[in-house]
Amino acid sequence: MKVPFVSLDRQFRDLQDELTAAFQRVGASGFYILGEEVERFESEAAAYCGTRFALGVANGSDALFLPLKALGIGPGDEVITCPNSFIASAWVIVAAGARPVFVDAAHDYNLDPARLEAAITPRTRAVMPVHLTGRPAAMDEISAIAARHGLAVIEDAAQAIGARYRGRRTGSLGTAAGFSLHPVKNLGVLGDGGLITTDDPELFGRISLLRNHGLRDRDHCSVWGYNSRLDALQSAFASVKLKHLDAWSDRCRQIASLYRGGLEGVVEVPRDQPHEEAVYHNFIVRSEQRDRLASHLQEKGIGTRVHYPVPIHLQECARELGHREGDFPEVEAQARTILSLPIYPELQDEEVAYVIESVRSFFA
Ligand SMILES: *Cc1c(COP(=O)(O)O)cnc(C)c1O
Repeated sequence: MKVPFVSLDRQFRDLQDELTAAFQRVGASGFYILGEEVERFESEAAAYCGTRFALGVANGSDALFLPLKALGIGPGDEVITCPNSFIASAWVIVAAGARPVFVDAAHDYNLDPARLEAAITPRTRAVMPVHLTGRPAAMDEISAIAARHGLAVIEDAAQAIGARYRGRRTGSLGTAAGFSLHPVKNLGVLGDGGLITTDDPELFGRISLLRNHGLRDRDHCSVWGYNSRLDALQSAFASVKLKHLDAWSDRCRQIASLYRGGLEGVVEVPRDQPHEEAVYHNFIVRSEQRDRLASHLQEKGIGTRVHYPVPIHLQECARELGHREGDFPEVEAQARTILSLPIYPELQDEEVAYVIESVRSFFA
């Protein structure tokens, strides 16, 4: 048996008719950039996340970058985030001209709120917690600290669409949030795409300008902007997939619970807290023998990944920030021991059982 780490072709096969109909509808409409399709997806997404506004943009990175710009964050400012994330969580801060300041992770891989306050300086403008692996960060604690210091909270929700925290969806838990619609994310389109949510009408207005050249209307430009629009075609695909998202998240939670049942006591497995509902973008296990376990699974035909083997503060591009090994010991220890197992809604029970059996056979 072969169990690929990702298998996007399976979802395409399941949705082929719906996606083809969307393609034909958009093609025949003659409108390919912004317009009705994008607006429809935006209002569906806002309703889904429980926010007043949602805005389609070109990718998940821009979905974080544009709110930073719209908040006026730039040179001389600091933005706090976690060093165990996809590199985009940090480069968007650098791209805005600000300095990323890292806070170590807690045991759940998310920003440790107990270490947040110590990282705040007079230059801090915002906190950008990442809902890593599809599990919401400790938003109550983070928001309370942010409010006390007058900081904006931008959720990096790229991996966490649909997850809930005390009953509320990610995207509705901060000043603004950025989602990625990259094909491997939980709501992935057939190319690049991103989504911003917010309840703040002024912020929404500024981001709307920024994503479309700064144009107020066809001929008048209020601010220097960017070209960061979501295609009509990708919006139509996203609308098709949004209808299936909750069922997919349920299935991923079911797979997670099968993994937990089969692997508890063999490797360290993630546990949901009662006040959160994760969507399992990744299912990460921990073992001191991670590298050998990964090779063993590869020999068995099972794809795995490490999210992420090199923490951001130790990346070559981050050298200018002056960090060294030992600065964020929890994240560094995680980087040495974590392994992501295959998890996606189309994964079959037999495949999950095979992964469990193969992990167990390594330790037997
Ligand atoms: C994927 C991802 C991004 C960036 O999204 P893109 O659509 O690839 O630009 C940002 N943050 C996190 C945590 C991600 O996983």
